[in-house]
Amino acid sequence: MSVKVRFAPSPTGKLHVGNVRTALVNWLFAKGQGGQFVLRIDDTDLARSTPEYERGIEEDLTWLGLIWDERHNQSKRFDRYHAAAERLKAAGRLYPAYETAEELDRRRKVQLSRGLPPIYDRAALALTDADRAALEAEGRKPHWRFKLDGQRVAWEDLAKGHVEVDTASMSDPVLIREDGLYLYTLPSVVDDLDMGITHVIRGEDHTTNTGAQIEIFEALIAAGLGSATPRFAHMPLLVGADGAALSKRLGSLSVAEMRDQGYEPLAITSHLGKIGTSDALEVAKSLEALGAGFSFDKMGRSPARYDTDDLDRLNAQALHAMPYAVARPRLAALGCDLGEAVWDALRPNLNRFGDIVGLSRMVTGPVTPIVEDAGFAAAALDVLPETIDAGVWAAWTEAVKAHTGAKGKALFMPLRHILTGQERGPDMATLVPLIGHERIVRRLKGETA
Ligand code: GLU
Repeated sequence: MSVKVRFAPSPTGKLHVGNVRTALVNWLFAKGQGGQFVLRIDDTDLARSTPEYERGIEEDLTWLGLIWDERHNQSKRFDRYHAAAERLKAAGRLYPAYETAEELDRRRKVQLSRGLPPIYDRAALALTDADRAALEAEGRKPHWRFKLDGQRVAWEDLAKGHVEVDTASMSDPVLIREDGLYLYTLPSVVDDLDMGITHVIRGEDHTTNTGAQIEIFEALIAAGLGSATPRFAHMPLLVGADGAALSKRLGSLSVAEMRDQGYEPLAITSHLGKIGTSDALEVAKSLEALGAGFSFDKMGRSPARYDTDDLDRLNAQALHAMPYAVARPRLAALGCDLGEAVWDALRPNLNRFGDIVGLSRMVTGPVTPIVEDAGFAAAALDVLPETIDAGVWAAWTEAVKAHTGAKGKALFMPLRHILTGQERGPDMATLVPLIGHERIVRRLKGETA
């Protein structure tokens, strides 16, 4: 069986870390097995969906490398949902109900005050044709509920193991609102069937939904629509570094913001793909490699810890391992492509790609030297070799040591301060040959160069 999964965002907001993880795990699972990844835009809510959000989702997924094999909009598939609704009505599984929100609320309160679960009492099922005609004559429009079986629905969840949901403890879900709007449930099931989705992978918060959806899958299949209920994986939710629910700020952190903050896509995907699994938290070589190593068997049952310190660490790792060929177009875009040797010398000091701009200034200038002791600087200049080659640092510092008596930190730190104008930075042995004779001389003289 070839795997086909879908990521189904509603274009009513930006992608944030939680839904990116869902998209990512779908992609990793599918691609790890040579399967297909479908992007399905859940835009049945025409009032809240916008083309801007839809474009943003596509941009974010593309930037992360989560390229889709197929793409659909639910707003273009209403005829399929109507057809499915008609089949369910014909099978007696979809029934009209006329209660207003206030009426339902009142009934719930009464049930709760009697110690009963606040489940819809199915009063609408007792309505006669005449009752319905009378209600409609009053101007009431029905909403449509799916009649649950009231069975225990069980499935082997790829992430949670054996799961059972008792649909007798649930209200019959409303599938179509009185204004005709299809709520998420039915279109989702119809699409999963129509598109041949083999695995539905989503957050743990959908587990109860799945109980009802499995009944809808089975009802539609029995009515001749579609052939197989997919398998399910409900992932443990993300929590913050402290183990508590993800803070509002982090939970709503958008991919767009992370991009603006200078995070590398591979750091984000490695982080979100590995937290909550038994794998070490390391940056992956590529998204494909991450997919090849992905398995639900590695996913724990406990929540996945989202820690920005880990993300920062992986981000630095991704940059430290980035070959010049990959960095080059981005360096050019920043106007600081100084060649492979400079990239190799500077990349071990990057936390964000943009740090390269400040670091390259150590090579190209202008650097304002920090000269604590002008006498020391002059002495170092006295013994500066004429030829600044790859081995110059060792030879020069030996000579400065012999000439001034300074050693260890007292020798190396002042030279770093003078030559880079910074407290810390790249390895001096690598850096100094890149700075070149002329600038070294000027900096030793205390000039900005
Ligand atoms: N649009 C739904 C959501 O974002 C999709 C859920 C699902 O994957 O079925 O919650």
